[in-house]
Parts: sequence; structure tokens; C-alpha cells
Amino acid sequence: MAEAAYDTDNIFAKILRGEIPSHRVYEDEAVVAFMDVMPQGPGHTLVVPKAPSRNLLDADPATLGALFTVVQKVAVAVKKAFDADGLTLMQFNEPASGQTVYHLHVHVLPRFDGVPLKPHTGQMEKPEVLAENAGKIRAALAG
Ligand code: AMP
Repeated sequence: MAEAAYDTDNIFAKILRGEIPSHRVYEDEAVVAFMDVMPQGPGHTLVVPKAPSRNLLDADPATLGALFTVVQKVAVAVKKAFDADGLTLMQFNEPASGQTVYHLHVHVLPRFDGVPLKPHTGQMEKPEVLAENAGKIRAALAG
């Protein structure tokens, strides 16, 4: 089945344009990272390329190189910031997979021995908790 076209009014496009707020932890010319508002665990971060694509399937390969360079950088910082035992990366493509926002992004999730993930797109986290967690990741990226 053919996929739908990229929608320039998806929520991450609005975040990238600064039209709605986010707790940003990283930005360069090609990629932004910010806190997931419905985290599946503390420190759940989204890494998002600025170039528009619906998901992995229609992305420019050059975008993927820049994206995964930052995914690694953010993953190392998130693991350090939360003293995590491990990390899970997730990336969904099309509704059948569980994708809910149609602008390519990679989930970075710190993991702790024996602690399961909370449900995908579950409960909204308090802004003050997201701000505090973003501060920890920014500090780890700087240090
Ligand atoms: P996916 O199912 O991979 O498309 O996941 C989209 C993710 O975006 C989910 O984990 C949501 O919790 C998250 N999300 C939705 N709206 C926002 C927002 N305004 N700011 C940050 N994260 C969001």
C-alpha cells in the first residue's frame, strides 16, 4: 500500500518551527533532540532530523547519517545522565507499527535492570519533571 504524503503540520514539524514548546536537549544544523512528553520511562528522549520525511521509508539517506550520529551522542549522554544499565532505541514506521507522529524520529530510552517500559503514548509527564530531566541530559552532553 502506498504511504501518505508528509504533512507539514505534524506536531514535530511545529516543534521544529518553534510553534509549540519542547524541552530541547540538543540542536545542530540538521538534528534536534527533546524530551518525550509521554515518557515510557525517565529520560525518554526523541531525536528528530530537521529535514522532512514521514519516517525511515521516505528519508534521504544523508539525513539518516546525521540523525544516527546524534542518536549515538544523545544515547551516551542519556545513559550517563540517568546512570542507566542499558538503552533501548525505537523507531516506528506507519500506523501498523505503532507510529503516531509522522515526522521521522528515534526514541532513546534509558533502561534499568528488571524495570519494564511504560506503555507507548501513555501518561503525560509534568513539565517540571521534563525540564529537570532535560537539564540532566544537557549537563551530560556538555560534560
Ligand atoms: P511514535 O509512535 O513513534 O510516532 O511516537 C511519537 C512520540 O511522540 C510518542 O512517544 C509521544 O509520547 C511523543 N509526543 C507526542 N506529542 C509530543 C510533543 N508535543 N512533544 C514531545 N513528544 C511528543
